[in-house]
Amino acid sequence: MTYVITEPCIGVKDRACVDVCPVDCIYEGEDQLYIHPDECIDCGACEPECPVSAIFPEEDVPANMVAYIAKNKDVFNSDTPPGRPKR
Ligand code: SF4
Repeated sequence: MTYVITEPCIGVKDRACVDVCPVDCIYEGEDQLYIHPDECIDCGACEPECPVSAIFPEEDVPANMVAYIAKNKDVFNSDTPPGRPKR
């Protein structure tokens, strides 16, 4: 299980989640932030910090955004993987 960042993050990238993640597994992509599914320890600290409610536990991702589960995983295998968040 992992936490997943979904559509509301696009164009927002508030980054409040980054500050509370104990294992630094939240990365920044071109359009949104992403949680590395293999690094997340499922602590849940990030979820309430997101001002646009973009973060969900994998099993609670709304039906219209389930594609983001794969997006958060596949982006790390792309030619341009997300990097450390910029402040
Ligand atoms: Fe980081 Fe915890 Fe959120 Fe996973 S659930 S991304 S470990 S803050």
